[in-house]
Amino acid sequence: MYNQCLKVANRNILRNGFVKLIDIMPKEIPIEARALGCDSAVVQAARVSYAQGLKDTKSDIKLINYLYKHKHTSPFEMVKFKFHVKAPIFVARQWFRHRMGNYNEISGRYTVLNEDIYVPIKIPSQNTKNKQLSNNDNLFNNNKKVNELQTKYMNNCMEQFNIYQQLMSLGVSREVARIGLPLNLFTEFYWSIDLHNLLNFIKLRNSDKAQFEIKEYARNIEEIVENYCPITINAFRNNKQINLSIEQINSLKINSLDNLSEREKIELESFFS
Ligand SMILES: Cc1cc2nc3c(=O)[nH]c(=O)nc-3n(C[C@H](O)[C@H](O)[C@H](O)COP(=O)(O)OP(=O)(O)OC[C@H]3O[C@@H](n4cnc5c(N)ncnc54)[C@H](O)[C@@H]3O)c2cc1C
Repeated sequence: MYNQCLKVANRNILRNGFVKLIDIMPKEIPIEARALGCDSAVVQAARVSYAQGLKDTKSDIKLINYLYKHKHTSPFEMVKFKFHVKAPIFVARQWFRHRMGNYNEISGRYTVLNEDIYVPIKIPSQNTKNKQLSNNDNLFNNNKKVNELQTKYMNNCMEQFNIYQQLMSLGVSREVARIGLPLNLFTEFYWSIDLHNLLNFIKLRNSDKAQFEIKEYARNIEEIVENYCPITINAFRNNKQINLSIEQINSLKINSLDNLSEREKIELESFFS
């Protein structure tokens, strides 16, 4: 199973970027738990609470769903993944906000960085309801003025890279030469994370509220993880919707969600999702 899944665990993303699964834990799956894959480690850890181990597949699946639904999260921390990621720096900046993981990134002090610059295909317009989002359009792709500016903008990124190379060829140190490089330059890092925190990453980043580029990575990672932990991913998908309880609504002093503006609804939803 381990080798078979590794074949599908190597994805090209945003043309020059990628996600590669480097390692997983557990690698050794007990024969009686083959059907569970890495989900077996969740069951084993949970049953240690009352000194038992794996049972039959049906009750093991039921247990995983119960644990996920009731937020008994620590058994999910027993499954670990290690990825090698190549992504634009602006994506990595969003990624590194996820503190419950371990990172090691390529160093522009040790190494001359590659000339890999991300150029978006779509030029969408700004969403006016949600201040962070793009509209799901490519409104400006045929706009002459915007196209000229966008081309100039991207060419300037390449030019910054040229200057970086020239400075180093004149003997300037790498650590100083690199400081003006653009945010759309690709960087590389190793990332290890447990399943519980990985699901948090997927929930936040494979979401309509996330930027397209990081969403592409999160979507692919979710598909990779599904090969190893199909039951947990299924539980995660089935329990995505969190409904506000009366207590939550009362604590916010809101009598009815109907009285909220569109903008307030979006903010409230993102707060509880
Ligand atoms: C759509 C979107 C927009 C965002 N916009 C912004 C923005 O404008 N500016 C910005 O700075 N960030 C922004 N973020 C980042 C966001 O605030 C989180 O930092 C990021 O998503 C990581 O989420 P997390 O804290 O759940 O994950 P992790 O950092 O992996 O943390 C996992 C869990 O551990 C807890 N935890 C981790 N570290 C600590 C700690 N030191 N103390 C207490 N609890 C801790 C967290 O509360 C969380 O429950 C945005 C994220 C998203 C998804």
